[in-house]
Amino acid sequence: MTNIAFIGLGNMGGPMAANLAKAGHSVTGFDLSPASCDQARSDGVSVAASTVDAVRDAEIIVTMLPAGKHVLSVWADILPSVKEGTLLIDCSTIDVESARKAHVMAREQDRSLSSLDAPVSGGVGGAKGATLTFMAGGARQAFDRAEPILSKMGKKVVHCGEAGAGQAAKICNNMILGISMIGVAEAFVLGEKLGLSHQALFDVASTSSGQCWSLTTYCPVPGPVPASPANNGYKPGFAAALMLKDLKLAQEAALASGAPTPLGAEAAQLYALFNNAGHEGDDFSGIINFIRGQKG
Ligand code: NAD
Repeated sequence: MTNIAFIGLGNMGGPMAANLAKAGHSVTGFDLSPASCDQARSDGVSVAASTVDAVRDAEIIVTMLPAGKHVLSVWADILPSVKEGTLLIDCSTIDVESARKAHVMAREQDRSLSSLDAPVSGGVGGAKGATLTFMAGGARQAFDRAEPILSKMGKKVVHCGEAGAGQAAKICNNMILGISMIGVAEAFVLGEKLGLSHQALFDVASTSSGQCWSLTTYCPVPGPVPASPANNGYKPGFAAALMLKDLKLAQEAALASGAPTPLGAEAAQLYALFNNAGHEGDDFSGIINFIRGQKG
């Protein structure tokens, strides 16, 4: 049994903390939202009165927060109070620069702290079912220590490299996802204009070179993949607001590193338009309806 502190008990962090408690760890959590704290309590998590109280006795601290500014502010608050040798793991999706800054803040404490950036893929369903994929950045020793804990919340844990490499892998993957969903959506819209049935295009593309996750798991038209959000009124799934967040992070990183990402930039613009049209809460595959509505 490990003493674990878990800060940020929202849609993702709540079920992740619950899975650690279910696995027999002693989990102490904190969230600014009283409703999230109540839910965590009923899931077997002890709730502390503050972030600092939550981390005092922890051997491992997990944060699952909205964005880089929240992570840096929470880490700045807790670092002076954590025990020597504690491992800090940030599972939020944040910009690479903030992730690297968080590692530096931990190292500067000079108390043998170790740290990992370990964002996840798999959404709320993966958090509840403990089937997330973790992509981790940081020293090998920190990864080896974190791996048995992360594997209680997910089915795959990948060490991507040094500090920030987990966030880098996350935004590169999600840039592929955003671009590929738009590609699949455009193909269905073109197919419709050409008199091709959705099923015929699916049967061909899913077994041909157009095959990809956006088509075969998350098909943006109802019918071919019964479990895809298109069959459920485009309820998320993975909300368009989160897709836009990740595409913006990818663009920030592309700008900072000088990487040319013309399709990533276009995807970010299209998802911004889709979000601004009031679809932030829709599944990101709903962009097909937005594309269909554009003039050719
Ligand atoms: P969420 O908004 O449901 O949860 C974030 C929680 O952090 C909230 O409950 C909020 O009250 C809490 N919080 C904010 N500031 C705090 C502070 N200072 N102290 C304590 N608690 C604080 O968001 P989520 O969907 O759980 O996402 C969390 C992270 O995971 C984000 O970075 C998101 O991009 C990433 N992510 C989400 C999904 C998804 O499908 N929801 C998938 C992959 C990754």
